[in-house]
Amino acid sequence: ALSIGIVGLPNVGKSTLFNALTSNEALAANYPFATIEPNVGVVPVPDERLERLSAIDGAARIIPATVEFVDIAGLVAGASRGEGLGNQFLANIRETDAICEVVRYFSDPDVVHVDGRVNPSSDVETIKTELILADLATVEKALPRLEKDAKRDKTLAAKLEAVRKVHDGLAEGHRARTLGLSEDEQAALADLHLLTMKPILYVANVDEAQVSAQLEPIDGCHPVPISAKVEADLAELDPEEAQVFLEELGLQESGLARLAREAYALLGLQSYFTSGVQETRAWTIPVGAKAPQAAGVIHTDFERGFIKAETASYDDYVTLGGEKGCRDAGKLRQEGKEYVVQDGDVMHFKFNV
Ligand code: GDP
Repeated sequence: ALSIGIVGLPNVGKSTLFNALTSNEALAANYPFATIEPNVGVVPVPDERLERLSAIDGAARIIPATVEFVDIAGLVAGASRGEGLGNQFLANIRETDAICEVVRYFSDPDVVHVDGRVNPSSDVETIKTELILADLATVEKALPRLEKDAKRDKTLAAKLEAVRKVHDGLAEGHRARTLGLSEDEQAALADLHLLTMKPILYVANVDEAQVSAQLEPIDGCHPVPISAKVEADLAELDPEEAQVFLEELGLQESGLARLAREAYALLGLQSYFTSGVQETRAWTIPVGAKAPQAAGVIHTDFERGFIKAETASYDDYVTLGGEKGCRDAGKLRQEGKEYVVQDGDVMHFKFNV
């Protein structure tokens, strides 16, 4: 599953948000899911298209796409030098696909801010500096060894150059991701698992009144406004009550749904579906993936033995009442190896074993 590390300064609402995301009763009612470890929660990605498809096919169950959230212990200034929970923090965060940084916007005077005042851009700077310093330490540790090896092994020259380039960029205070590295350079750096190479999503933990506000960009990105407190309240409601509460707040969907959607967009991901009497299921693929690659998400054999994919668009599938209706109307396409899968495609793969 897609994994997202939740980071932020202490007391900004990370745990509140994490607990709300992973204990949501309305979601749990529709999709039985569990928290696997105290700080890791697997959360279904809400997608109303799944309910529609399963109704058409009379599917026995729905299996949604999932996002794994990892609550990463509080980052403090000095974490990269191993102070406090620093090292544990860094080990956890290295394994995630993306970072979700919770930034305090809510004003509650009863909740102490580590710096004594609410200041989102300064908080973002603090975390950015820590992440850059952590990466700089990683790179400085790797460099001497690499320089030595590169003297004997000429194939390491390109890698050495990429590591030096990223070192200089980090030392000037830039994230690795913003250095304009080529794909080859990025591949050469992959085994360093640099934190600042990961995409970042900012969540603005706002006051209740601000949940539908448009916020100023922070560090060049539009933060997603979410109230951790509202999410915590929502998590305790059954689906009907939750819907009423959302409408009262002027929202169409929960913070989790928004967060999942933004994370998919950030990472260039989309879903296609398989559906039948047994189950209706969402599968996650990168935008631009071709049919065999999409099949490979289900099973590597599907990719290796790929013959074709019977494909209907989501809209046709719903309008024409399923696979048979699509076939009768000539809307069930036989797609081959070069087909670029579209978001919402309902697919049925044919393959050799
Ligand atoms: P963490 O240290 O970042 O994990 O922060 P916590 O989730 O433990 O929250 C710190 C404190 O802020 C707790 O007392 C929460 O109840 C409170 N808090 C978290 N989110 C909100 C919010 O959206 N609004 C308000 N008013 N308080 C919040």
